[in-house]
Amino acid sequence: MFTMAKEVFKQLFKKPFTNLFPAKHIPKSVGGFLRDVEKGKVKMNPPVPTPPGFRGRVEYHRERCNGCMLCTRVCPANAVVSKPKERKIDYHLFRCTFCGECVKVCPVKALEFTDEFLLADYSRD
Ligand code: SF4
Ligand code: SF4
Repeated sequence: MFTMAKEVFKQLFKKPFTNLFPAKHIPKSVGGFLRDVEKGKVKMNPPVPTPPGFRGRVEYHRERCNGCMLCTRVCPANAVVSKPKERKIDYHLFRCTFCGECVKVCPVKALEFTDEFLLADYSRD
């Protein structure tokens, strides 16, 4: 019991192991917090750079896409859907598991990972 209390006490004065949420990316809906940041009441946490190879939101470069449909074949989550008439695709973020198969298979780099990690929203699309 004493050992545990000692450990808890020690932890109170240690720095957190995780990065603090970068306030720069806080959504507008958290307006009160941002106003406090502006007034200097709350400290702004600087964003931590994402590591190389980070798998954020997948960006679809429509103009590069040649309509080969390889990405639709490899996607395990049905997040890439073909639009045969246009010979293009639709990417559905809400289904994506960030496995990277489509990015790997695309011959023209029309699908790429971005650094965007703040993906929660009220709309599925
Ligand atoms: S990253 Fe994976 S789950 Fe997401 S669209 Fe590409 S293949 Fe599908
Ligand atoms: S693999 Fe690339 S080029 Fe082929 S359909 Fe998908 S996004 Fe377009």
